[in-house]
Amino acid sequence: MSAASPATEPAKRLLLAKPRGYCAGVDRAVIAVEKALELHGPPVYVRKEIVHNRHVVETLRERGVIFVDETSEVPEGELVVFSAHGVSPAVHAEAAERNLRTIDATCPLVTKVHKEVNRFAKDDYDILLIGHHGHEEVEGTSGEAPDHVQLVDTPDDAASVQVRDPSKVVWLSQTTLSVDETMERVDQLRERFPGLADPPSDDICYATSNRQIAVKAMAAECDLVLVVGSRNSSNSKRLVEVALQAGARDAHLIDFAREVDESWLDGVTTVGVTSGASVPDVLVMDLLAWLAERGWGQVEEVTTANEKIAFALPRELRQATK
Ligand code: SF4
Repeated sequence: MSAASPATEPAKRLLLAKPRGYCAGVDRAVIAVEKALELHGPPVYVRKEIVHNRHVVETLRERGVIFVDETSEVPEGELVVFSAHGVSPAVHAEAAERNLRTIDATCPLVTKVHKEVNRFAKDDYDILLIGHHGHEEVEGTSGEAPDHVQLVDTPDDAASVQVRDPSKVVWLSQTTLSVDETMERVDQLRERFPGLADPPSDDICYATSNRQIAVKAMAAECDLVLVVGSRNSSNSKRLVEVALQAGARDAHLIDFAREVDESWLDGVTTVGVTSGASVPDVLVMDLLAWLAERGWGQVEEVTTANEKIAFALPRELRQATK
C-alpha cells in the first residue's frame, strides 16, 4: 500500500511593478530642500509637505526642516520652499510682502497646467478642473484664475456644474488622477457640453499614468497588491483603486512594511508590489525583505516602461550654485 503524497502548495510569487516610486518632480523637490539645507543651513521652512510621503517628511524634519501650513507662519526674511504640488499667485504675493526668500519646487508638469489655466482664462473660457477637493495642487491651480476655474470632483459635480457659454468651455485636470476615472468624468461633461475643449496635452502626468499601466499589467495575477505610499498621496491611493479595478483580489496602501497585517497573506500565492511617485525605493526594498522572510523571495519584475525623465533644479538653486 503506498502512502498518500502530501498536497503540494502552489509556489509563492512576487511581482514587482516597474516603473514605480520616485518621479522626476518628486526627486527634484527633495533634492531642492536638501540643497537649500546645504547652502543656507537649518532652519529651512517648507510650505506644506514637500511631497506627500511620511518617511521623506520625517527624515527632512530631523535634518532641520520646519514644515508649515501657511506662508504667514514663516518668520519675516526667512527661506521658504514651495512644495512640488505648486502654489497660487496669492501665495507668491504673500511671500514677497513678508520679504521671504523663496525656492519654488513646483513640479514643471504642474506649472504646465498653471500655464494652461492662464491661457484659457485670458481667452475667457470657463475652465472645468477635474481634481480632488482640498488637494493642494488643485488649490494652487485654481488660484491662477479663481474667477474662471470650477472644480469637478464627483459625478454629481459633473452633473450640476454650470458654465456661461457651452461653446467656450475646456476641461483640465490634476496631474495625479486615475486615468480611467478622469475619462469617465470627461465623457459625462461632454454629454452636457458637446463643445467641451480638451487640454492641449495630457495633464495627468507621465509618472501617474505609467505607474497605473504597470499595476494594471500585473493586477489580474495577484491575490494581493501592496502599494507603498502615504494616505495623503493622491497617485498612491489611485494605484490601490486601479489594482482592484484591474482584477487584484485584494489591495492595501501602506507607508512601511511593518504596517502589513499578516492576515492579508492568508491563502495568498501571488503578491504584487508597487509604490507611489513620492516613495523612495528603500521603503519598497524593506517590504521585499519582509516578504522574503515569509516565503516570497523570488522577485519577478513586471516592466511596462523605462523612465528617463529628469528635471533641472529650481532656478533659485541653479543661480545660487553657479
Ligand atoms: S507625480 Fe507627476 S506632476 Fe507630480 S511631481 Fe511627479 S512628475 Fe510631477
